[in-house]
Amino acid sequence: MSEKNLEKTTAAAVEQERDHILDIKDLVVHFETDDGCVCAINGLNLSVRREKTLGLVGETGAGKTTTALSILNLVPSPPGVIKGGSIVLDGKDVLQMSEKELEHMRGNEVAMIFQDPMTALNPVMTVGEQIAESVMLHENLSQKDAFERAKEMLKMVGIAESRAYDYPHQFSGGMRQRVVIAIALACRPHFLIADEPTTALDVTIQAQVLDLMKELIDNNHMSMLLITHDLGVVAEVCDDVAVMYAGRIVEVGTTDEVFNDTRHPYTEGLFDSLPNLKEQGEELVPIKGMMPDPMHLPEGCTFAPRCPYATEACTQSVPELRHVNGSHYVACHAYDDPSFRLRRNANG
Ligand code: SF4
Repeated sequence: MSEKNLEKTTAAAVEQERDHILDIKDLVVHFETDDGCVCAINGLNLSVRREKTLGLVGETGAGKTTTALSILNLVPSPPGVIKGGSIVLDGKDVLQMSEKELEHMRGNEVAMIFQDPMTALNPVMTVGEQIAESVMLHENLSQKDAFERAKEMLKMVGIAESRAYDYPHQFSGGMRQRVVIAIALACRPHFLIADEPTTALDVTIQAQVLDLMKELIDNNHMSMLLITHDLGVVAEVCDDVAVMYAGRIVEVGTTDEVFNDTRHPYTEGLFDSLPNLKEQGEELVPIKGMMPDPMHLPEGCTFAPRCPYATEACTQSVPELRHVNGSHYVACHAYDDPSFRLRRNANG
């Protein structure tokens, strides 16, 4: 490569890094147990663009939550071991940070929302006290000022300020999740990780909470990694989507690219098994089989035992992520074979 081209490539890489709040490269996370090694994350590459929401999709056991915990450097160790890779958040490698730097990052720069609001809230403190406590942990405010901030936060998530004096059990499930969102946003983080934030809520409340999160993210210029098993949620909220299978990304792109030009058989399977994205009268087709045992991953493409398009070649080597177009990448040996066309795309 000539010096000029090298300069251009380096400049493009720097530009791309600036555009991303999160860059995960070649991440490998294993859990070393007495029964053997659980290969949870197996060479994960993932980026989140600034001020955008990326949906991380996959079935239970794909490694989504381990990815989230890795970003906060909270993988329980032992038995968890981060074997390799880098996680660069806002220009700093999380895996190289001191405990003090990590503490500052968690809460000030990154916040996480979990699936079940009840486990995230303390039943013997008022919600106002809990939001104020979170503010005081990270900002130098008096108790009185922190409580005032708590009231503001409640108002922001659509709860009357007067309810700051109530306890979690006095709120409905949807309201409790709003309180959890208020706690997460109280310290104005740049980056939010939401792990199945609406799964425990009923469907109408789910839509309200998702709309609220989207609005808060947009208004506060934040970026979000939204972990979900539901492509319907992705369609509603996300700019980009990454599909995860057995600890790796198998397809990634903008939501538009992945939804309208699906290239991976696993992504196709997720669409086919989703009732609310199917046309009326179309048959639902569940993906056959189960996610492979992470202690005994199959050779080659880990999706091969469940893939209706698998050939001999698929079991010989692991497919790497290959560029389709735009920001769309797919890890499937057959994706550029002219005779290979997914049912989803063949049906138009
Ligand atoms: Fe299916 Fe082969 Fe593609 Fe894997 S590489 S998804 S087995 S067609």
